[in-house]
Amino acid sequence: FMRPIDQITQVLEMYPKGIAGFTRFTQLIDTEPDIADRPGAKVVNHLRGDISFRNVSFSYEHSGRRIIDNLSLDVSAGETLAIVGPSGAGKTTLCALLPRFYEIEEGAITVDGTDIRDMTQASLRSQIGIVQQDVFLFGGTLRENIAYGRLDASDGDIIKAVHSARLESVIKRLPDGLDTLVGERGVKLSGGQKQRVAIARIFLKNPPILILDEATSALDTATEVAIQRSLAELSEGRTTLVIAHRLATIQHADRIVVIDETGIVEEGSHEVLLARDGAYAVLHKAQFGYLAG
Ligand code: ATP
Repeated sequence: FMRPIDQITQVLEMYPKGIAGFTRFTQLIDTEPDIADRPGAKVVNHLRGDISFRNVSFSYEHSGRRIIDNLSLDVSAGETLAIVGPSGAGKTTLCALLPRFYEIEEGAITVDGTDIRDMTQASLRSQIGIVQQDVFLFGGTLRENIAYGRLDASDGDIIKAVHSARLESVIKRLPDGLDTLVGERGVKLSGGQKQRVAIARIFLKNPPILILDEATSALDTATEVAIQRSLAELSEGRTTLVIAHRLATIQHADRIVVIDETGIVEEGSHEVLLARDGAYAVLHKAQFGYLAG
């Protein structure tokens, strides 16, 4: 009976740090015990966002299989890296290791050269924004929902974030604008609108590292395009890991890594990987093949 309370506390604890909409990540967290800070763990802020996975291995408790097996990967500050691969390859798991939702078994993950185990979890997570398809809004005003990660945000900051997330048109149609009550007892926002709220939160939080978990979308095309533009802006100047399900949205990533259950099988730009005619080309054909006839 303690577990659900634990879970809620954890969600609430993470929320003020601005981690937006993370149903799948919460599902991940829920299944594992909390990870304690090491004695002497440092509070970090203003990280640049150079990420390095060094010979990282990880398996879920009781599952036996190594989901991540001796994986090494460097992501430079400001780079957008798309992670693609078949369902179950470990894309979400790999990204969940960065905010330390799980403890790795072997190897090390560093940010700006510091092992993430030597940072306090709260401060590490304050440097990471997560955007997912399923966004959680709590009962309160839209303004409160946007500013939750940055209680000190000024009206000017909020308006800027609203603009960047292309939320103005949504707000204009609400009875009390930013002060409209949303959530369970308030105005129900659509999936696309909620996602824009999540994006606004992260613009406001301004973390150097971004994880975009791009679940299969139920949005209409116009909304989708608007959201993709906002996400592209959001990732500018931030180290961005995109968990990509639809290859169309990641063609402009700086780099694409293809992983399967054996680890990283390919790495390169969209053009390079297509020309190589390997695993990425196969995935690409599977998604777009029908277009070619
Ligand atoms: P998808 O494209 O379907 O989202 P993915 O590449 O993101 O897949 P993961 O969600 O990371 O893959 O899952 C990798 C493997 O780990 C899968 O076999 C999955 O069943 C397993 N797995 C995921 N979460 C857990 C968990 N909490 N406990 C045990 N096994 C898990």
